[in-house]
Amino acid sequence: MEQQTLKIETFEESLYRFEVELTGGRYRSAFYLIPEGGGVLIEPGPTANLPSILKGMKHLGLEGLSYIIPTHIHMDHGGGAGKLAGLFPQARVVVHPRGLQHMLDPTRLIAGTKAAYGEDFEALYGPILPVPEGQLTVPNEGESLDIPGRKLQVVYTPGHAPHQIALFDTKTGGLFCGEALGALLPGEEEVILPSVSVQDFNPDLYLETIGKLKRLEPRVLYYSHEGAIREPERVFRRLEETMRLIRRITFEGLKNGETIETIVKRISENLPGLHNTQAHSAYLKETILGCFHYYTRQGLL
Ligand SMILES: [Zn+2]
Repeated sequence: MEQQTLKIETFEESLYRFEVELTGGRYRSAFYLIPEGGGVLIEPGPTANLPSILKGMKHLGLEGLSYIIPTHIHMDHGGGAGKLAGLFPQARVVVHPRGLQHMLDPTRLIAGTKAAYGEDFEALYGPILPVPEGQLTVPNEGESLDIPGRKLQVVYTPGHAPHQIALFDTKTGGLFCGEALGALLPGEEEVILPSVSVQDFNPDLYLETIGKLKRLEPRVLYYSHEGAIREPERVFRRLEETMRLIRRITFEGLKNGETIETIVKRISENLPGLHNTQAHSAYLKETILGCFHYYTRQGLL
């Protein structure tokens, strides 16, 4: 589990973001720490992040954690929660009701992770351990976690996965959005595409969730993989347009029996900034596959 911490970013109201690079990893990983109230960790990431999390805590003079909050149970967000819960037995691990069972018994989660990342994912990302039942907290929609100096309001954000939550800091207007507000892809022009996990994706709920988060009027979006964005209006507008267009073209295409390649091409021709590069088309293929599974489950294809 070789790794290195790349950088530490400091935001207002004592919020710190740590970006971790795992050698050979498939994504950028970041976690957030709030030192107040005994230490709040948002997005623990995989178990392999542990040395960086301990380093980050030391940097802030933190000896323990009161909350460990993955936005959802996917390995790259919550895989390390079990290991951390064992190290910090006084910490509460916050989870959506649909994720609870998988935190207690990660057997199916591990099988899904192997399907997505390979049989030997543990060699790079570390194991996924269960969280002891006594440490789990399942907040209701809209419930707030009280931390000195701020309240973190829990918002259910299905679409990327049914077990996803976002956290809205009502004092600063910061929104920890997990993967509910798309992924920003590299390119000459800024491209925002929906963040899709093929088996869990629900394009209708994804769009509903974007609207729900927009109505909170956040001032800053704290992404789990891509950093912080201070012009949320732009993200909401572009992502809503993009999601509507992808959903329409994909559904029509699948209905008409078009190939994934044809659908990718049609989306690329209609979305500004999307030049059908390898990265963009790989992303779109996942989105179309996610839609295909969803519409098939719904009996619409
Ligand atoms: Zn995910």
